[in-house]
Amino acid sequence: MTTLPLPFDGHSVSDSTRAFLQRDHLLFIDGAWRDASGDGWMETRDPATGLVAARFAIGEAADVNAAVVAARNAFDGGWARSQPAARAALLRRLADLMQRDAQMLAELEVIDSGMPLFIASLTVSNCTEMLHYYAGLAGTIEGTTTTPPAHVTHDAEAFTYTLREPVGVTAHIIPWNVPLSMAVLKLAPSLAAGCTAIVKPSEETPLTALALADLIAEAGFPAGVVNIVNGTGGTVGAALAGHPGIDKVAFTGSTATGRRIVEAALGNLKKVTLELGGKSPVVVMPDADLALAIPGVAMATYFLGGQNCMAGTRIFAHADIHDALVEGLVAFSQSMVVDHGLAPGCQIGPMVSPAHGAKVMGYIARGLSEGAVLRTGGERLDRPGSFIAPTIFTGTTPDMGIVQDEIFGPVMAVQSFDTLDIDAIAAMANNSPYGLSGSVWTTSLSSAHKIAARIRSGHVSINCHGAVAHNIPFGGYGQSGWGREFGRESLDNYLETKAVTARL
Ligand code: NAD
Repeated sequence: MTTLPLPFDGHSVSDSTRAFLQRDHLLFIDGAWRDASGDGWMETRDPATGLVAARFAIGEAADVNAAVVAARNAFDGGWARSQPAARAALLRRLADLMQRDAQMLAELEVIDSGMPLFIASLTVSNCTEMLHYYAGLAGTIEGTTTTPPAHVTHDAEAFTYTLREPVGVTAHIIPWNVPLSMAVLKLAPSLAAGCTAIVKPSEETPLTALALADLIAEAGFPAGVVNIVNGTGGTVGAALAGHPGIDKVAFTGSTATGRRIVEAALGNLKKVTLELGGKSPVVVMPDADLALAIPGVAMATYFLGGQNCMAGTRIFAHADIHDALVEGLVAFSQSMVVDHGLAPGCQIGPMVSPAHGAKVMGYIARGLSEGAVLRTGGERLDRPGSFIAPTIFTGTTPDMGIVQDEIFGPVMAVQSFDTLDIDAIAAMANNSPYGLSGSVWTTSLSSAHKIAARIRSGHVSINCHGAVAHNIPFGGYGQSGWGREFGRESLDNYLETKAVTARL
């Protein structure tokens, strides 16, 4: 291990991380690193220090065209018809290589996104599990048989079978909050299905997708099966979403961008799945186990510094336990270690960028002006980078901006309620255009399942929050998205069904 000077604030990173950062990063197209067609470069910064960590080439529409040609050639040239076992072997090899380079991948993720190292390390191991999971599913792709009605084949003996075929060339447009996971959770099912892929990382966090490209090449994936094209959303992202040579786009990001993707995809009616924003409810019933609920509710908001689509930031506390819960949450918040993600014990890192930090601070100011009561936090830490203290507002009401909008920062809005009527509780929880996640905290089995059933959301946790994984379908109701990722459903996103009727 080497101790680096800035931009890492004196924290240690491995030599491989340091060497990786010093490279000039190009575009990964058709199995090789290529210069971008224009002369555009961007810098990515360590959000904890604001200092430049690496530079990378950004593509334009011409680079997207080149990636589409490469992906189409790879699809038609054999990948679509490859043996599932061969695809599975490559996915497993990639998992092994990620495991080998886990330290570097985790450190790059911290330096690029600001997340704490222990979370980054966890995401790397989750990614390897995900690759093994979809490698296993590759061999389970199968159709069905049925007998068509007699009139369809003019009374002749006949049968129909179905084939599951890969959708084609797919584009994966991903956000900055968990960049490596976002790339792998889309790549694993699409490659298992026999699709080829073009990944566009967020311009805020390009690094781990670039490191992944090295491993994809080393694993031996055929050229063009995976392409990584960095660039801005307005150029590379928009070119992918509108490209007539792309069959499906899988997008994760904000609801506003999701709408633009849908509009751009209309041209060739490409298939679209959307994982969008959230403002998830956390319902704490009077019989909740507060020893469990206090840290659980706090982390529902503060995981990834609140830069988490599943963040539970609308807290509904029953009046009987409201004061005890808030007291516990305040104490928990004040005990949290907010620091550089590489610092030992760090629990909350910085906001990803100064612009995002300013947006979060704007919401805190708005909460104050709306009349919410600030119980703790509410300020920036006096150091470089956008570090924001864990923040709790009480006395909030459903109409407030801090209750309705996705803030994507460590800001919790607590409301008190005094009913036990399940429908009334569900109405409070569902007062949001979003529906991504949510949780209920109670020792009553009956209220737990009744409330879980009524929350309009793609995933609800009981006595925990955001308990999702590669084998649990995940996605949104309402303005939180279209379709599901993870689980078998994600594989299905990348498969067409063809029915063949044979008259004998
Ligand atoms: P964003 O929408 O700003 O950007 C996401 C991606 O879209 C980036 O790669 C960006 O470059 C690209 N993009 C921007 N404009 C585009 C355009 N016109 N056409 C095509 N692509 C374009 O989102 P963000 O700020 O990177 O991420 C935060 C958002 O992501 C939050 O709203 C969060 O809730 C959401 N998110 C959702 C999930 C989920 O699973 N539902 C997971 C993580 C993050």
